[in-house]
Order: sequence, then structure tokens, then C-alpha cells
Amino acid sequence: MEPETIKALISHTHEVILAHAEELTDLDQAIGDGDHGINMKRGFEAIAAAVDAISELPGGKALEKAGMTLVMSVGGASGPLYGSLLMSMGKAMPEEPGSVGDFATAFQAGVEAVMKRGKSEGGEKTMLEVLLPVAALLSSADTFDADALRAAADAGLASTRDMKATKGRASFLGDRSIGHLDPGARSSTLLIHAVCDVVESCDAIGGK
Ligand code: ADP
Ligand code: MG
Repeated sequence: MEPETIKALISHTHEVILAHAEELTDLDQAIGDGDHGINMKRGFEAIAAAVDAISELPGGKALEKAGMTLVMSVGGASGPLYGSLLMSMGKAMPEEPGSVGDFATAFQAGVEAVMKRGKSEGGEKTMLEVLLPVAALLSSADTFDADALRAAADAGLASTRDMKATKGRASFLGDRSIGHLDPGARSSTLLIHAVCDVVESCDAIGGK
């Protein structure tokens, strides 16, 4: 992957997280401890600060370094979870990724690492409600369809509203978690939109 593409991914994800930090915190205020926006902001600020070192690495190593940066800079559950996603994705990424299939395999490995780390699965009102359908869609696609990926993320996020949380802090609320969107599912949706926007604009994965 070109350093310019990695730089664009870092700056756009950072920008989007900054622009939505308050919204993420508000969502976490309703069913958690109100720090999700702060956690995400801190993590993506740390990645943005390391942009030069990260962007000179090959794609897989860049993802691993970005993931380590999240783990080291974020205290909440989301740091290690997103960190695992990026680190495992990076490890599974071939040196010269060319096809959508290469990215699909890597993303799938990342999502599996989140499940392992979080001891969680779909249907528990977490970021996995977004990550799992996106991974499934990527795996079944032979072209990068940004609109379909954004729509899958949006639908996954919307599905969290009526779910009862059984993992993370929101699970302490039991039935009172029902009726609210999951903050981590919202941040995952924001990140997937941001990545789709960059990939679309630079045709990094040979999209349609
Ligand atoms: P904390 O819960 O430590 O305050 P954050 O507020 O930053 O951390 O992140 C909360 C989000 O993390 C939740 O909205 C949920 O999407 C996600 N999450 C929490 N626990 C798990 C888990 N075990 N598996 C998957 N995702 C989880
Ligand atoms: Mg929180």
C-alpha cells in the first residue's frame, strides 16, 4: 500500500473520530461510563502523531503498529479491542495485497481477534454487530463495493438499538440497555465509512 494511502487513512479516520467524539461520549453516557469519545479521540490522536513512522511501513506492518498504538494509548475496553482488530488484520495481510479477497481475509482475522479478546460474539450489542456483517460482506464480494459496505455497517448499528447488552459495561444495565445505540457499534460504523471514503477516492483496492 502506498504511504500516501496510509496517510490518507490515518488523517481521515482521525478527523472523523474528532468530529464525532462528543456523540460517542453521549452514547456511552447513556449505557456506559461516558468515556468512549475520549478513548477513541486519544487513540486516534496517538496514531495521527505517529503518522510518519506508520506510513513508511508496508500495509500489514502499518496496521500492526497502529493497533499497538491504540493498545498503549487507550485505557478503556475499546483500546485493546480495536488494537486486536488492527494487529491481527496486519498479521494476516499479505505483503503485496492486491485483491478484495486479501483484505477480506485480513479483516476476518481481525474480527475473530476481537471476539477472542472480548470473549464475545454477535447479538450481544457491541461493535461486533457492525464488524461481523461487514466482514461477511467483504468475504463474499469480488469487488470493493463501498456503498454496500457502508449500508451493512449502518444496518448493524441500527440493530443494536433493540438489543440487550450482555458484554461490556452496558451489560450491567440489563434490560435498561435496550433502546440505545451501542457506542462501539457507532465508532465502528464511523471508521468503516471513513475507510470506504478513502478507498473510493484513491481506488486503493481496485473498487468498483
Ligand atoms: P469501556 O467500556 O471500558 O468504558 P469504551 O467506552 O471505550 O470502553 O468502549 C465501549 C464499547 O466497547 C462498547 O460500546 C462495545 O461496543 C465495546 N465492547 C465492550 N466490551 C466488549 C466485548 N467484550 N466484546 C466486544 N466489544 C465490546
Ligand atoms: Mg466507556
